[in-house]
Amino acid sequence: MPHVITQSCCSDGSCVFACPVNCIHPSPDEPGFATAEMLFIDPAACVDCGACVTACPVGAIKPDTKLTEAQLPFIELNASFYPKYEGKLPPTSKLAPVPDAPAVDRRPHGPLRVAIVGSGPAAMYAADELLTQRGVRVNVFEKLPTPYGLVRAGVAPDHQNTKGVTRLFDRITQRRGFGFYLNVEVGRDITHAELLEHHHAVLYAVGAPNDKRLDVEGMDLPGTGTATEVVAWYNGHPEFSHLPVDLSHQRAVIIGNGNVALDVARILVTDPDALARTDISDHALAALRDSKVQEVVIVARRGPLHSAFTLPELIGLTSTCEVVLDAADHEQVLRDLEVVSDALTRNKLEILAKLGDGSAVTGPRIRLAYQLTPTRVLGTDKVAGIEFTVTGTDEVRELAAGLVLTSIGYHGKAIGDLPFDDAAGVVPNDEGRVIDPATGKPVRGSYVAGWIKRGPTGFIGTNKSCAAHTVDRLVADYNASRLGEPSAKVGALQELIRTRRPDVVDSAGWRAIDSAEIARGGADRPRDKFIDVADMVAVAAAAPKPSLRQRLLASFS
Ligand code: NAP
Repeated sequence: MPHVITQSCCSDGSCVFACPVNCIHPSPDEPGFATAEMLFIDPAACVDCGACVTACPVGAIKPDTKLTEAQLPFIELNASFYPKYEGKLPPTSKLAPVPDAPAVDRRPHGPLRVAIVGSGPAAMYAADELLTQRGVRVNVFEKLPTPYGLVRAGVAPDHQNTKGVTRLFDRITQRRGFGFYLNVEVGRDITHAELLEHHHAVLYAVGAPNDKRLDVEGMDLPGTGTATEVVAWYNGHPEFSHLPVDLSHQRAVIIGNGNVALDVARILVTDPDALARTDISDHALAALRDSKVQEVVIVARRGPLHSAFTLPELIGLTSTCEVVLDAADHEQVLRDLEVVSDALTRNKLEILAKLGDGSAVTGPRIRLAYQLTPTRVLGTDKVAGIEFTVTGTDEVRELAAGLVLTSIGYHGKAIGDLPFDDAAGVVPNDEGRVIDPATGKPVRGSYVAGWIKRGPTGFIGTNKSCAAHTVDRLVADYNASRLGEPSAKVGALQELIRTRRPDVVDSAGWRAIDSAEIARGGADRPRDKFIDVADMVAVAAAAPKPSLRQRLLASFS
């Protein structure tokens, strides 16, 4: 009875550490790890101990006898990763995949103090790595009163297992030396230079907050938007609760076919009664109950061979929604199957080859469409449709639609005066050390992790090894005295922030918001999120205040 990794795999590699027989690959030290769509258990080597089940932060691992019908394809998928190793371990594999940061050289006059900006996965994994050692203080700054970035505001509400990683993050916040400064915006409430007066280093893990924009006529008409805005809308992000999402037409079109497009399409066609059992925002649920959308077309400019969605997400999509393909695209899938060389893409194409053309489908469906390059959005006062050319030809096609969303990837945003590579959307860096391109030298005390370091690719857990590498460099610089000594006393930061931002939310405040949301969710929903910042701040303000002794301990630890 081997164990099997399923769709919600976050690739953080916790299972790799836990496995006593090293049967989970690719591990973070193996070449394929950075590009792997998920991790796989070797069924021949698995000893069925279940250690990985306990270690997995997102509940993705199950014994093969306990899989649901929809998860059965993952048995074959896990096994298919291994034939090339013929039951032996890959030669590069070691059992210590994530680099251990050098031990912090503790100094008599106080801890290593690090400010982390952002509170998503890269930020929390960096805090985790730093706080595995004594003599370290980590302060996490976040502009919203609620933490965890895209895990809260990006992961689709019907993927609650994936959101389970917040339990791990909550445990990190309880570590000695951890401090939350939520509802505090770096750049507005406190500057980079001021952060460096209170810390040895500032580590930015701010993600890639902007959407790539599609530069075609009509993209400003009402009824256009981006998939990531819709994600933020249905996830109750306070800045997107009033987003106009026009669901009055029977067809919506999404440009780009990455995992974000699949998430949005799936939510648009899922039965609202099923979504009502998730933490979807009430305004989105009400809009979806009134929705007239019957078909969501996900359009790619290239062919099936180059689909950007991952295999686990395609398996999840086709097992929960009606997914269809036009005859011409079906023929292309068959042609691609003749030339494909890698096993994962072959698996994707085989699933696509089994899709029907939709003629027998009466209810809501998702249509995957290929080889269409968008040229303009049609309509005068609002979206009426979209025009494409068949890629590489002059042939024009039109699709009538009331909603046109682009889902063509995220883009990083410049941070204050730090160097920025606008084309790549990242802060120039050498394994996490911010580098000034003019001098080629590190910018003292400045580090990056996550999407602002490496671009918007990978999964939640990919940020674990990414953050670990940055922490490795940061601690090495501290030990080598390459970081300035903060001029402010250890306890002075709290005072400064409380003066600048009286509504700052700390760990106790976040726990109060979290508990209140879970209580509002009642028996049927995991939580009912607050979508208004003022409501969050009010709940946090009513949280029991730490005693003077607790505050002193917290600020000096
Ligand atoms: P993505 O995977 O990079 O996909 C972007 C899509 O946009 C591609 O189909 C790309 O086509 C297309 N595109 C780019 N520029 C275009 C243009 N000018 N015109 C037309 N199409 C264009 O981006 P994403 O979906 O935003 O995902 C970002 C990352 O988050 C990915 O690593 C993804 O796996 C991850 N994610 C994971 C999950 C999950 O695991 N459940 C959920 C959400 C996001 P070309 O290939 O032709 O450029």
